[in-house]
Amino acid sequence: MDKVIGIDLDNTLVCYDALFHLAAREEGLIDSTTPGSKEKIRDAIRLLPGGESKWTRLQAIVYGPRILEAALFDGIGPFFRRCAADGARAVIVSHKTRFAALDGKQVDLRQSALRWMEERGFFERDGFALSREAVFFEETRAEKIERIRALGCTHFIDDLAEVFAESAFPSGVVKLLFAPHGSNGVPPGVPPFKTWRALGDFLFA
Ligand SMILES: [Mg+2]
Repeated sequence: MDKVIGIDLDNTLVCYDALFHLAAREEGLIDSTTPGSKEKIRDAIRLLPGGESKWTRLQAIVYGPRILEAALFDGIGPFFRRCAADGARAVIVSHKTRFAALDGKQVDLRQSALRWMEERGFFERDGFALSREAVFFEETRAEKIERIRALGCTHFIDDLAEVFAESAFPSGVVKLLFAPHGSNGVPPGVPPFKTWRALGDFLFA
């Protein structure tokens, strides 16, 4: 049976690590001594007066207009080429609300993400050769899981173990955790992978 490989978007294909730190410093929310991970940045900002709304605003900035500065994780180009060589179908399934409020305007987060993919060559024939119809945005985690089922995914790659832990997650789908920063608390039966190369070796070697 040909593989249908479902892939999460945020923090699985898009690497926001450096961008959150940069944007938070430029907004005057943290200084350079705050550690770099998104969780540490979030925790530091939440301690500020009005911290919760400052954190929400920063996310709208990073997932919206500034997403174009976000990095692509290493090894994704070769991974998509191995998919194509294997005859596997790659689909992207993202839990992403459409709009976020930013400075009195509505930012279209899905349009922003699609533009990031365009600029990285996701849809170029000599890039990653994905079809735009292979990108799905869903409003809730439940709808994301339903999409994974409806697409007939044989495998799903996500950075969030909670997605795999949902009782509705289809049992026949092979769960693969992308854990570039290490993997504490990996649920049983969900192998963690530090790199896209390791994921490719698991699926195609
Ligand atoms: Mg994610």
